Amino acid sequence: MKYDVIIIGAGPGGIFSAYELMQKNKNLRVAVFEAGRPLEQRKCPIDGRKIKSCINCQSCAIMNGFGGAGAFSDGKYNITNDFGGTLYEHIGRDEALDLMHYVDDINVSHGGQGTKMYSTAGTGFKKTCMQNKLKLLDASVRHLGTDKNYIVLENIFNELKNQVDFFFMTPVEKIEVLPEGYCITADRNTYECRKCIVSVGRSGSKWMEKICQELKIPTMSNRVDLGVRVELPAEVFSHLTDELYESKIVYRTEKFEDKVRTFCMNPYGSVVSENTNGIITVNGHSYEDKALQTNNTNFALLVSKHFSEPFKDSNDYGESIARLSNMLGGGVLVQRFGDLEKGRRTTEKRMAEGFVTPTLAAAPGDLSLVLPKRILDGIIEMIYALDKIAPGTANDDTLLYGVEVKFYNMEVELDERLESRYKGLYIIGDGSGVTHSLSHASASGVFVARNILAEI
Ligand SMILES: Cc1cc2nc3c(=O)[nH]c(=O)nc-3n(C[C@H](O)[C@H](O)[C@H](O)COP(=O)(O)OP(=O)(O)OC[C@H]3O[C@@H](n4cnc5c(N)ncnc54)[C@H](O)[C@@H]3O)c2cc1C
Repeated sequence: MKYDVIIIGAGPGGIFSAYELMQKNKNLRVAVFEAGRPLEQRKCPIDGRKIKSCINCQSCAIMNGFGGAGAFSDGKYNITNDFGGTLYEHIGRDEALDLMHYVDDINVSHGGQGTKMYSTAGTGFKKTCMQNKLKLLDASVRHLGTDKNYIVLENIFNELKNQVDFFFMTPVEKIEVLPEGYCITADRNTYECRKCIVSVGRSGSKWMEKICQELKIPTMSNRVDLGVRVELPAEVFSHLTDELYESKIVYRTEKFEDKVRTFCMNPYGSVVSENTNGIITVNGHSYEDKALQTNNTNFALLVSKHFSEPFKDSNDYGESIARLSNMLGGGVLVQRFGDLEKGRRTTEKRMAEGFVTPTLAAAPGDLSLVLPKRILDGIIEMIYALDKIAPGTANDDTLLYGVEVKFYNMEVELDERLESRYKGLYIIGDGSGVTHSLSHASASGVFVARNILAEI
């Protein structure tokens, strides 16, 4: 079986590669191999009643399948070089932004019409933040919402399905280098191609590491972000979220001069659990459709940790911390801010008495038994700093879910074309360590597709 291009992984990176290739050259033979299921078959069994926590499905419906980790995400496409990845370091700032706008146009024309683009440009919040030792990062953000994001993916798949060979539930096991291309092994079959795009995301991080070792592709250790997801009444942040939707705010702690930042803000959203390689962590999303919204806003507060010598495996460190919370709570833990400050665990009774109704059924517990002191101190300091621009953040009933871990894949050595040391073997999206977001991953997909089109 010979293909011009084989794409491994059908997350945003892989999808936008396939889309661009088929838009510009319908004669190309393109195959996409995906470890998970087609979009319509992706269903997480957690229903909050019969199944309350993760049961470690063979293929995690949240992380794997058409749409990748982004399928049930909030669909926040941040158009910025300030966060979300370092794509600009490879391809330049202007091209990175142009590609993110191009991706936005495609999303809007495939079901995202009518969704709002928010921007920090000209907002007065920058000043308010500065006056309170907080820094608001610049960005434009298109909020598709989980519902519209799904429709966009559905429409793109319908456009691609007759032109591209999709192999679902078919994880690629091996990549071999041939004199004129690549041979991949999946489900005991082999498939050859001239060019290969690897876009396996965070869930494919372990596999990516193995492939890099086998093919002797150099990698560098990356950081891990650790922290909690904060949930509070939406009114507390509504003045910010109504204007900006998502505000990326950074704080430098007075005690240790560590940077703590807000991440993935979901107004009127829900907190969810997430399974990465068997480890349960917390995340969040929200719907564009008002009928599906909640009364709460959630966002993460994260601290970055880098390791160099002699310990290098930042992800392993993050996993060990997450495993602690899984050990104590059977999954995600939740604690009231007031209980954390008073040095006591949260109980079912204290949760029930609180004014904030949790959107995730997590185990009430004590996060100070899980998170290192330095990280927890930083988070507490930032909660008080945020309380100055959004009074109510530091209320006793504010809920903290833990742990939120943002794993970053080790960074693969790539050139300015996102090509590995093998000609025609491209590594893109979150799996490359270069991107950490929907917009950057998608843009990297379009970028390599254009390079391939220029060569084939
Ligand atoms: C709950 C949640 C909410 C999020 N919300 C946002 C948000 O609002 N905004 C934002 O910018 N980012 C968000 N993110 C992050 C975003 O989803 C990712 O940055 C993005 O999906 C990365 O795209 P990708 O294509 O690189 O990888 P992924 O989306 O991870 O896709 C990789 C695909 O490769 C497949 N795969 C892995 N290994 C193999 C293999 N060996 N063979 C075949 N297939 C394989 C996987 O099954 C997966 O489908 C969120 C993530 C989660 C989990």
